[in-house]
Amino acid sequence: MEDSYRHKGLRKKLVNELEKKGITDQNVLSAINSVPRHLFMESGFLNFSYKDSAFPIGAGQTISQPYTVAFQTQLLKLKPQEKVLEIGTGSGYQTAILLEMGANVYTIERQYELFMKSKSLLESLKYTAHFFYGDGYKGKPTYGPYHKILVTAGASEIPQNLISQLMVGGLMVIPLGDNTGQDMVVIEKVSENKTKTTKHGKFIFVPMLKGTNK
Ligand code: SAH
Repeated sequence: MEDSYRHKGLRKKLVNELEKKGITDQNVLSAINSVPRHLFMESGFLNFSYKDSAFPIGAGQTISQPYTVAFQTQLLKLKPQEKVLEIGTGSGYQTAILLEMGANVYTIERQYELFMKSKSLLESLKYTAHFFYGDGYKGKPTYGPYHKILVTAGASEIPQNLISQLMVGGLMVIPLGDNTGQDMVVIEKVSENKTKTTKHGKFIFVPMLKGTNK
């Protein structure tokens, strides 16, 4: 599928809308402006690709709302070349945003169907990331520690494995709560055994589940 002038125009509008909603990081806005979200949508929802909403992507999961993607990415305070562990590849859209910003991305998905689909989509778009099928609660210690960790599913508790895979000085952005809603939480690892937590408003994500699903 092509990326037409019409798509580019709709994307620019979406970027303006996100700015109005309070997204200020120019690198984040520029990444949203660059990534063709329509390529990450299910065919039945193509007309809504540049609407600021979440949509189904199969396997009972959703592509996150662009505002949520922008907000989480802004909280990460990304610098180019940083090593980022993403939990919940989903459609791969957030992965593409991180790559567009120059991050070195390690991404884990527990739904086999989504893992396969998003890996091949991103590879066909020449977005290079490290894809893993597995349980994000375990993280990926082999490639850690990471500068940043981004969780894109709602977790009921802080996954201690992930804290231990974060570098000292690193940040983890994670929606924490039950299935009625989550607080957007930033956890800064200030020293080897000390963390500092701040809250950044309410969101609703699909749940972060244990184990894998084939
Ligand atoms: N960033 C994605 C968000 C997808 S929704 C996007 O923009 O499309 C969250 C994803 O997290 C789902 O695909 C779900 O299957 C996945 N997920 C939930 N629990 C997980 C876990 N323990 N490990 C890895 N992925 C998980």
